[in-house]
Amino acid sequence: PLIFAIESSCDETAAAIVDGEGNLLADVVASQIDFHSRFGGVVPEIASRKHIEAICGVCEECFSVAAGNLGRTGLSWSDMDAVSVTYAPGLVGALVVGVAFAKGAAWAAGKPFIGVNHLEGHLYANKIGATDVEPPMVASLVSGGNTLLVHVRGWGDYRVLGSTIDDAVGEAFDKVAKALGLGYPGGPVISKFAAKGDPSAIAFPRAMMHSGDLRFSLSGLKTAVVSHINAERAAGREPNVPDIAASFQQAVIDVQVAKSAAALDETGAPLFCLGGGVAANPALRAAYEKMCSERSVRLIMPPLRSCGDNAGMIALVALDRYRDGRFFGLDADARARTDLEQPY
Ligand code: ATP
Ligand code: MG
Ligand code: FE
Repeated sequence: PLIFAIESSCDETAAAIVDGEGNLLADVVASQIDFHSRFGGVVPEIASRKHIEAICGVCEECFSVAAGNLGRTGLSWSDMDAVSVTYAPGLVGALVVGVAFAKGAAWAAGKPFIGVNHLEGHLYANKIGATDVEPPMVASLVSGGNTLLVHVRGWGDYRVLGSTIDDAVGEAFDKVAKALGLGYPGGPVISKFAAKGDPSAIAFPRAMMHSGDLRFSLSGLKTAVVSHINAERAAGREPNVPDIAASFQQAVIDVQVAKSAAALDETGAPLFCLGGGVAANPALRAAYEKMCSERSVRLIMPPLRSCGDNAGMIALVALDRYRDGRFFGLDADARARTDLEQPY
């Protein structure tokens, strides 16, 4: 089969086509970052409008790339066996653009319609470029809106072991970058400065490190960074950006890795996976390589370009749903929130 997927939950408009073996024949992402960065974050109203402007072109590009890869002159909706879309969680005004578009395409072409949970998509990104990614596993989802440790007992069978009680990890990177005047998004620029700084220069708090559970808290860390910056300025010093970035990043990594190790102990899972935009962080990836090799746990991480939002990961979830014949009615709607433990 050929499955079409659309992703529009935040600020990337994306489309992908997967074949029955799980090969991505096209995986197109159009980012809106340039339109949002001047406001210091994603503006929901702008995101919706930009999705409307971009979605036709992104889908056309997707058909043309996939046709090229199949050696065909063209492809269209009628060549697809199902149309899938991210229906939750995310910005509801952004999600509805993709959902309405996908439903329209599915209805017009008479194809089954499949709704996909965005977070399950981030889990499936681990299948891109890797073979034998099979549960049981523990997965860490670290993104702009979520921070979760998940016991993946089977595909579609998830138990959330712990999550953040306040800010998400990506959100903390974005807020720290904003406090340092480094613009949006914060993750990539913080990790660049961090590579040139000393991770032990400033002792930022490791919140909930010894809480005995798998929950996280990041708002105190962000406040500690802001207080440090203010104290430096009050003392007439310019904040040392590389040292602050490196020390902040290390505080995040220490807690993430320690709780992930505890989750591996608790579940006995032989495999660990990462997902979400923050999974592109080089220091975080290196820390997981060390922890997993020490424990003889297999580690799989999505390719760098598949950590952030994309439709390839949504297509791979949809392929599993297609095989199981789990389709959505055309009355299904976009939702801002959803429970990963009930993905469909
Ligand atoms: P969610 O998936 O929870 O709905 P989202 O889709 O907005 O949220 P993603 O697109 O998966 O989130 O990830 C974006 C986040 O990843 C941003 O907060 C960004 O700063 C962060 N990020 C990107 N690259 C890096 C990096 N190298 N280091 C740390 N964080 C990063
Ligand atoms: Mg994004
Ligand atoms: Fe995401």
